[in-house]
Amino acid sequence: MQNVYAVQCMLCGRTSGQVRNGAFHRAPTAPPLKSRGGRHWCGFCGGNIYLEHDDSGAMFIDPAPAARPLYPQRRAS
Ligand SMILES: [Zn+2]
Repeated sequence: MQNVYAVQCMLCGRTSGQVRNGAFHRAPTAPPLKSRGGRHWCGFCGGNIYLEHDDSGAMFIDPAPAARPLYPQRRAS
């Protein structure tokens, strides 16, 4: 069972992709997320993004997977 989260925008409400097991998979119809100030922003409008648990069973296949996880695990130092 995978942990699947939809990456949603607070501003425009569009879905940019999914985070599955900590790795971001961009939706085929979505532009890449914007990266600014060490954070990620909606590729459509530059708005705040948030993760919402996605149990729809939908799977986005990213043609070019992100090189690094969207939300890397923090390790206790
Ligand atoms: Zn947006």
